[in-house]
Amino acid sequence: MTKREKLRDRVHWAITLLASVMGSCDRLLISASAEKDKRIVGLSYNGSLPGRPHCDDIGHYMINGHCSRTRHAEKNLRDKENTDPEKLKGSHIRVPGTPCLDCLKELAGGNVASIEYTGYYDNQEFQPTPEMIKEIFGENFKLEHCDIDWVELFQELFDRLSGPGGMFNQLGYRIKLVKEPLEKNNMKIYIAVIGQSGSGKTTTFELFKEIYSSLKISVHRFSNPLDEMIDAVNRILARRGLQDRLEKSRPNQQDISTELRIIFGEELLGDTLQKRAEKDLVDVVFLDGVRRPADIEMLRKLSGENSLLLYILAPPEERFERIKKRADRPGDAEKTWEQFQAEQEAEAESLIETLRSMADFELDNSLHDPEYKSLRAQIVKFVNEKLGLNPKEKEEEINVA
Ligand SMILES: [Zn+2]
Ligand SMILES: [Zn+2]
Repeated sequence: MTKREKLRDRVHWAITLLASVMGSCDRLLISASAEKDKRIVGLSYNGSLPGRPHCDDIGHYMINGHCSRTRHAEKNLRDKENTDPEKLKGSHIRVPGTPCLDCLKELAGGNVASIEYTGYYDNQEFQPTPEMIKEIFGENFKLEHCDIDWVELFQELFDRLSGPGGMFNQLGYRIKLVKEPLEKNNMKIYIAVIGQSGSGKTTTFELFKEIYSSLKISVHRFSNPLDEMIDAVNRILARRGLQDRLEKSRPNQQDISTELRIIFGEELLGDTLQKRAEKDLVDVVFLDGVRRPADIEMLRKLSGENSLLLYILAPPEERFERIKKRADRPGDAEKTWEQFQAEQEAEAESLIETLRSMADFELDNSLHDPEYKSLRAQIVKFVNEKLGLNPKEKEEEINVA
């Protein structure tokens, strides 16, 4: 990229972000832009259908924990009233958030050349993986994530305005941007969930989302960067024309985790997850896969008062059955009781039990109960006791607002 191209990229990102200010649903203000032949040929934000009242004026319309009143920015971009469909063809799209799968299909249908997004997984239903993108959109679909420091970006642009010929230069001042954390961010709650495999961690996240549907909740897994590492290795192997691939199996994750920690130090994975969790603009962050005392130190550093450690227990026989049944990792379905027991002895798994004494609360998920009545009740008890949140009250408060 030449200096000029880099400047244009920054200006176009700034314009795209500023358009989100016009979004009319304050659960998420989001925008999208299309660039073609160096020019912005389309700019949109999320809002109600033309002529319909806005969330800002009459409140949200909640269905399944999502506001359903507005149309997404990317869909609005494709609306022919906003952007000439011919111009959208072959354009480069910018989205300052994580686009949902429907919107990606919408854009792919408009034959855009490439899509670039910034922001981390604030859309939990869709975490784009290279495999998923290839499967749905084919080999040539270009979807890229980029990291943007908005303070740095706007500072650079404002400084140019204070430089020779700039508008602020004529006015005789410079604007200096300062990043100040919001009060609200301090309220973010971090819950690290500890439990051996098959104890019911994922079920707990899902029940929590269901019960507290008005809260924004995300799950960050210690295994995410490991899986991303496996994807990266597989991409390299594919580029070299080699047939071998690494499976996303537990032993491979454990090997990669061990090697990375030898090279980059014990804190590497914890630090990575910490950065991602801090960037995530949600009410509750669940950390999944905590196994080491160092991980817990990281949690306390994130937010002393608002961090909690939740331990989930279930007997080994029950866990073994669950792992075989859900079979979400290669080899799980065929696993023998002996293999399962051997895995429990492995370093990372065996450490889990030693963390039990540090937990703020325990959930007992040993009952074989398909409707999870007991687990549901325990989650509500945990939240009432430790967080002082009542699901109904919170729901009403949000719906009225
Ligand atoms: Zn809304
Ligand atoms: Zn969307």
